[in-house]
Amino acid sequence: MPDEQRFAIYPGTFDPITLGHLDIIQRATPLFDKVFVTLALNSDKSPLFSTDERLQMIRESVKGIDCVEVTHFDGLIVQYAQDVGAKAIVRGLRAVSDFEYEFQIALMNRKLWQGIDTVFLMPDVKYTYLSSSIVREIARHGGNVDCFVAPDVAAKLKEKFQLPKGIEG
Ligand code: ADP
Repeated sequence: MPDEQRFAIYPGTFDPITLGHLDIIQRATPLFDKVFVTLALNSDKSPLFSTDERLQMIRESVKGIDCVEVTHFDGLIVQYAQDVGAKAIVRGLRAVSDFEYEFQIALMNRKLWQGIDTVFLMPDVKYTYLSSSIVREIARHGGNVDCFVAPDVAAKLKEKFQLPKGIEG
């Protein structure tokens, strides 16, 4: 019998995708045959970027990383995992502060489907303080985000927060 393919999902809001997310993706891909980087359409959040914008930025950022498929879903993650044949959910752990929430979600997901496990990966220490919300805040105030996101994401952020022509002072 051929070995079963090992698929994982890396779900997130990716508003926008940062170098911290990319670090996790690069650590996850050698562990699995395929990693679905999946935009979770979470109705509780009002993202800065539209679904299409976020998907486009993810696609651009993961170019050149093998065995990645960029997708999106709306609903229960365990249902989505079953639909694509994934038995692992990848999540990034930056600090102990991430742990409590992630632990709760991981156990809840396993309660919903015994077939799923969550794999926590730690990023390079230089990304442990990095989050999409901090990047948005820096960009909103005109700061330089070049060392936190891929070049096209930095350009999109600049575009988003650019003052309309005529009121630059
Ligand atoms: P969510 O709204 O699901 O938390 P995010 O896009 O903020 O979506 O994050 C997706 C996953 O990536 C989460 O597991 C989060 O902890 C992880 N993550 C976010 N930023 C980093 C980072 N700088 N380093 C490592 N993991 C990260």
